[in-house]
Amino acid sequence: MTKQPILQVKQLQKQFPLYGPFGKLGGVKQTVHAVKDVSISMYEGETYGLVGESGSGKSTTGRTILGLTEATAGEVIYNEQDLTKLSKAELRKFRRDLQVVFQDPFSSLNPRQRIGRILEEPLIIHGIGSKEERIEKVFSMLEMVGLQNEHFYRFPHEFSGGQRQRLSIARALIVNPKVMICDEPVSALDVSIQSQILNILKQLQQDMDLSMLFITHDISVVRYISDRIGIMYLGTIVEEAPTEKLFTNTLHPYTQALFSAVPGKQKRERVILKGEIPSPINPPPGCVFHTRCPFATERCKNEVPALREIGIEGSQHKVACHYAEETKQWSN
Ligand code: SF4
Repeated sequence: MTKQPILQVKQLQKQFPLYGPFGKLGGVKQTVHAVKDVSISMYEGETYGLVGESGSGKSTTGRTILGLTEATAGEVIYNEQDLTKLSKAELRKFRRDLQVVFQDPFSSLNPRQRIGRILEEPLIIHGIGSKEERIEKVFSMLEMVGLQNEHFYRFPHEFSGGQRQRLSIARALIVNPKVMICDEPVSALDVSIQSQILNILKQLQQDMDLSMLFITHDISVVRYISDRIGIMYLGTIVEEAPTEKLFTNTLHPYTQALFSAVPGKQKRERVILKGEIPSPINPPPGCVFHTRCPFATERCKNEVPALREIGIEGSQHKVACHYAEETKQWSN
């Protein structure tokens, strides 16, 4: 039987209008194409890593999936419902199942409330348990993220950055969600603390059979945590594969350049890309990567490459490059 995705993102687009000096009165002057075309299928108990440089649209993708920003086009299917078509009130019913952890834990921790109250609040909002059951759940959640009972009575400012991220994970997971979106959850932390938080996330994800969308710019982090990875460039996914397959058989020229910049044991020749990532206000036609790709041809300038499966059927390795069958030779 074919596995059914728990969450399906289909051809998602997000555009932001830019207005002139007279604001909305003067009409839209330009459009930022933050997310051009993103399709992702997430399965139960899986971690999907979404990687890209800053400006690639990965965080906007996460926010649009959650409905924190309205989609311009496309679908987000969860529980047979297209979340992009729901009103704010209807979307609230799904909030319990879809949780988020941001880079800055302070955004989800009210500085005036004690931790016990902060963690109990989502349970109150979703009408879960009696007072005693909620308090018991808060204590057990503190333990699950490696904190102590005494932390129940403290305020957020009394914690270190790593502890605060543990608290925001606890707050997201206390309602037993099915899907969690983590947007750069360890980027602001020291390397030693990063690994502690990653280990907690990995353990909890397994224990709770959670599906996780892990958004990051850090290649080493995404390799450690993800089962499958999607590489984003200028609002589109250019390559997607199970983690080890992606690292051993990197096919898209952009992914090859991105991975070659990571110091490590692998002997990859450093690929220096020319120029900067183009502006999403005026993305290039054809293949979005053609302005920087060392292998671009006339075809690349005019024809958008489809994200297509490479190799044997069911390989799960998808690449958006007209010449994906030849790119392996280029990287050697
Ligand atoms: Fe490079 Fe052309 Fe492939 Fe795009 S389609 S990655 S420009 S070779």
